[in-house]
Amino acid sequence: MRLANIATGDGPRPAFLLEGGYLPIETLSGQPVGTMRELLDVGMTALRAFHDRLLDRSAGLLPADRVELCAPILDPEKIICVGLNYRDHAAESGADIPKEPVLFSKFRSALIGPGEAIVLPPVSNEVDYEAELVLIIGKSGRFIPEAQAMEHIAGYTIGHDVSARDWQLKKDGRQWLAGKTFDTFAPIGPWIVTRDEIPDPMNLGIRLRLNGETKQDSNTRQMIFSPAAVVAYVSQVVTLQPGDIIFTGTPPGVGFAKNPPLFLKAGDVCEVEIDGLGVLRNPVVQG
Ligand code: MN
Repeated sequence: MRLANIATGDGPRPAFLLEGGYLPIETLSGQPVGTMRELLDVGMTALRAFHDRLLDRSAGLLPADRVELCAPILDPEKIICVGLNYRDHAAESGADIPKEPVLFSKFRSALIGPGEAIVLPPVSNEVDYEAELVLIIGKSGRFIPEAQAMEHIAGYTIGHDVSARDWQLKKDGRQWLAGKTFDTFAPIGPWIVTRDEIPDPMNLGIRLRLNGETKQDSNTRQMIFSPAAVVAYVSQVVTLQPGDIIFTGTPPGVGFAKNPPLFLKAGDVCEVEIDGLGVLRNPVVQG
């Protein structure tokens, strides 16, 4: 299943992406559905049954080219990110391979959807790109054993962990939180692909193109901590809830590790592509 948030006159509305277009979801099992988070909360089994009954439906379908998408989740309780989760990215950053996941977070004010602009803050001159696989939590849990962790993942989307390196790495105390959570620094989308359609999340090509030129080109098999390991680890700290978002780290090729360094500028277009998930495209503007 592909679950998208479509823009309507009444605000964002969850929808299935079917063969013929987007089908807005107003109710499920007689209950009104307001947000994607509420939709995920009904559980994958009920959602799948509902989806499959609609597969050959044409009434109410909105043609894909006439629909504007929002971030697939706009109101998560939490956005959690893992740093340095690809062996070769840790190496290019001059960092040791971490023995445990390195966690940081972003605020929901950083979320934007496909096509929305990444705004360069006037207080940074070193805004960098990071292509990432993003986990969407579908089932709540705390102290989740790694063997059961996959059951808590509703699906996957593409994420872009935009990062102001001058704040993240050069300020006193290394301001990871600030450097990672400027407004617009968390593009996600274009939709959620449910877990059942991605048999092995650790075997997906992941790429980032800047103005059409490939800058990152790797595979999620390079990840140090698997999606299951990350979910289990994070759940030691916080109770995960449906709609929570976990960025799983970026492969090599980021701008600050290049010689000379490469940073985003107004007019750039970033595209993050992950096999089976699609392409997340965002223009860059000066704030
Ligand atoms: Mn990252």
